[in-house]
Amino acid sequence: MRLEFDNRFVNELPGDSSGHLQSRLTPGACWAAAHPTRVAKPRLIAYSREVAELLELKDEQIRSEEFLDAFSGNRLLPGMNPYAARYGGHQFGSWAGQLGDGRAISLGEVVNSRGQRWELQLKGAGATPYSRRADGRAVLRSSMREFLCSEAMHHLGIPTTRALSLIATGDQVVRDMFYDGNPTMEPGAIVCRVSGSFIRFGNFEILASYGERDLLEKLIEFTIDRDFPEIGQQSEDRFVTWFRTVCERTAKLVVEWLRVGFVHGVMNTDNMSILGLTIDYGPYGWVDNFDPNWTPNTTDADWRRYALANQPSIARWNLERLADALETVSPSRSILDEGLSHFDGTLQEQLSGMLTAKFGLARTEEEDASLIEEAFELMHRANVDMTEFFRSLANVKSQVPDLSLLKNAFYGESLYREHEAEFDAWLVRYCTRLSGQQDADETRRRRMNAVNPRFVLRNYLAQQAIDAAMQNDMSVLERLMEAARHPYIDDIPSDLTAKRPDWAIDKPGCSMLSCSS
Ligand code: AMP
Ligand code: MG
Repeated sequence: MRLEFDNRFVNELPGDSSGHLQSRLTPGACWAAAHPTRVAKPRLIAYSREVAELLELKDEQIRSEEFLDAFSGNRLLPGMNPYAARYGGHQFGSWAGQLGDGRAISLGEVVNSRGQRWELQLKGAGATPYSRRADGRAVLRSSMREFLCSEAMHHLGIPTTRALSLIATGDQVVRDMFYDGNPTMEPGAIVCRVSGSFIRFGNFEILASYGERDLLEKLIEFTIDRDFPEIGQQSEDRFVTWFRTVCERTAKLVVEWLRVGFVHGVMNTDNMSILGLTIDYGPYGWVDNFDPNWTPNTTDADWRRYALANQPSIARWNLERLADALETVSPSRSILDEGLSHFDGTLQEQLSGMLTAKFGLARTEEEDASLIEEAFELMHRANVDMTEFFRSLANVKSQVPDLSLLKNAFYGESLYREHEAEFDAWLVRYCTRLSGQQDADETRRRRMNAVNPRFVLRNYLAQQAIDAAMQNDMSVLERLMEAARHPYIDDIPSDLTAKRPDWAIDKPGCSMLSCSS
């Protein structure tokens, strides 16, 4: 297996190359050398053929002993230079100091024959200097969730880190899933994540917080150079353009999350990608019955800081924290404030465009705001399934406001009956609006189905795949991967598009998730 490595992050930025893994602060460094810790008996559970293609790896190479060894952390391939990145973060609203890759180890940056650069990172590969008191490992359930969801997000067209492989380690890991004093042994696993960059807001914040201004300037230059090649080399306002771009990408990302009902769950600044990618899949979830205040993260159940509808304002708050860090080396604060305003503008524009598209409206008109708002209010009040609602809405004929077409979006007959009249009235308004646009029902249906997915990785589906995998049955995982490849088509097995079943309402992993992973 030949992979061409060009490890710019470790070659161009200063790091702590001592290689010992004791937990410690690493001032003056952007990374610390860390070799993966051996695992007992690695076994390939799944891989993404699309990511393999990006890396120009063939099927038989992925199924080789060499691959298993390298991507479980048991062997380094020529050119690999493993390290953990140093970063800090604001967690749940407070500065948490140095965090860093406590269980992620980057192997290096591969450049493929098309000149694309992909960093390979093992999550769960053992302790690093940033592990603090934790074990550097990951369990199978959370690794499966990350593997599945990051690929599903990609196929939905949403910016994300990718996943090449999912490997069971053969080691057991102790976890207290609900922090209730009941630790159990769980199978360990390692996901190989793949991304153009794993740099987070927190990589900049930690340098500002330590007053390491020269290093901060260096990291900014490095990031623009490597990760934002579209920003000109000589451009005088490189820095301005860069921050503006980060703000824009972050705004676009959260609007995409809202489009498909995705809740990240832990939008701390250490989990915010500088490239505007979805990163660090932990207690994330997909909203079933629409509720703007919903979060799958039990740790956030009281405050709901990271709930569905809060994500845009949290993204801005996180950008403000990034701006605070950048301010220490910025010619002026106003440059940064301009970037933040650009976030606001982009957010409004994208949000309105996204909603217009979801409802199949050809053009945004001012009166549409109340029509759209009322739909979400009704969905919330009547516990309507968001994914199902938009898919069904596409089937409505503009001349015939027939509510029965939407019936399957309701969780049960009685909720339907209870809210029938309100929905009927709304649908009449909606159809009147549609009649005003010169557009065939079929054309609109196709347009809507291109932005409203038929398949999303509902929490209970991921949990079913996990339950089966724990019994050594990978068939559910494979079916989900296949469905996730074409999330907008109609022809998906009905059991994979079914609304959340009643049994899943209170089942751990389906309705609530802890950070324990
Ligand atoms: P998260 O909220 O999962 O993004 O993690 C926050 C911080 O905790 C990061 O610095 C992680 O690297 C670290 N961390 C989480 N789980 C572990 C673990 N099992 N071992 C070491 N570090 C961990
Ligand atoms: Mg994280």
